[in-house]
Amino acid sequence: MDVLVYDTKKYDRETLNAANADAGAPHKLVFVESLLNERTASLADGFPAVSLFVNDDASAPVLERLAHSGVRLITLRSTGFNNVDLDAAARCGLTVMRVANYSPYAVAEFAVALLLAVNRKLHRAYNRTREGNFALDGLQGYDIHGKTVGVIGTGRIGAVFARIMHGFGVTLLGYDLTPHPECLALGMRYVSLDALLAESDVISLHTPLLPSTYHLINAEALAKMKRGVILINTSRGALVDAEALIEALKSGHVGAVGLDVYEEEEGLFFRDRSDQIITDDVFARLMTFPNVLITGHQAFFTYEALAQIAATTIRNLSDFEAGRHNENVLVPRSA
Ligand code: NAD
Repeated sequence: MDVLVYDTKKYDRETLNAANADAGAPHKLVFVESLLNERTASLADGFPAVSLFVNDDASAPVLERLAHSGVRLITLRSTGFNNVDLDAAARCGLTVMRVANYSPYAVAEFAVALLLAVNRKLHRAYNRTREGNFALDGLQGYDIHGKTVGVIGTGRIGAVFARIMHGFGVTLLGYDLTPHPECLALGMRYVSLDALLAESDVISLHTPLLPSTYHLINAEALAKMKRGVILINTSRGALVDAEALIEALKSGHVGAVGLDVYEEEEGLFFRDRSDQIITDDVFARLMTFPNVLITGHQAFFTYEALAQIAATTIRNLSDFEAGRHNENVLVPRSA
């Protein structure tokens, strides 16, 4: 099948070509660097399938344009699908597939890395020692051992995060619509969101971005947290109201923050913008806090995860073409 693969970098092209070759090269993959949006949708004219990543815009007008030009399949190279209007896709007769499950370890381990870095101030220590400054003032952290860690969203990634944190000797609190058996086995106590916010020393977010989770962490939620709380978000930026977070950081209520995702990241992340002026004042303000560490949506970025994303994407394409059952189909929804 001819596939236009949007938003690709060298590493995407290499892993997708390798997975396609491993499968006997059944698909003709055409790579573009552009993000999908209303202006770039026309690039897909004549392609029956397109492959997208997290910041491609698959809103209703874009999907209508794609369907009009003959696209029948949207296959996402991500777990999250908040950038796709699934109802519009269904209306347009498009099939939407994703990579429902790839290394949860990649993201969970990265959340732990952010937690350890902001707690022990590794980002500041790195800069200091490079400048020959070996003073320790301002670098003090605390033992994670003995603290209370709240996990919001205990699905695949949240459960792995909980398992790793269990090894640190913490009290685990969870908030989810459905308790995870493995988390229960670890001794996690499922509580209300308010109780989790009030009791946790560390809070890590692992829910998808949905209308029900949009700005889950807003001014009200932040006010309910313990003073000095460490907040980690490796899920989706819009789970957190960034402006409210800035106020909570300014007042000193929030102790430290590790963010791999940001609400307005589409215009920023995955590109070298080091010679440009950042015009997003909220993002720029967040970057000024010494107790905030921001990374550019790299939690998924391990060799294992990329290989799994590529292999699953190729399998999704082959299953769609052959009309085979596939567990990664989001649309059409099963009855
Ligand atoms: P998952 O579906 O296995 O788990 C999500 C959990 O959230 C489920 O247990 C679900 O019940 C829970 N949930 C859903 N709505 C909720 C609500 N309103 N309140 C409380 N809990 C709710 O998903 P996963 O594989 O663990 O991935 C989680 C998210 O991580 C993805 O949706 C994606 O946004 C993000 N992610 C980020 C990266 C990255 O590189 N930073 C990579 C992969 C995934």
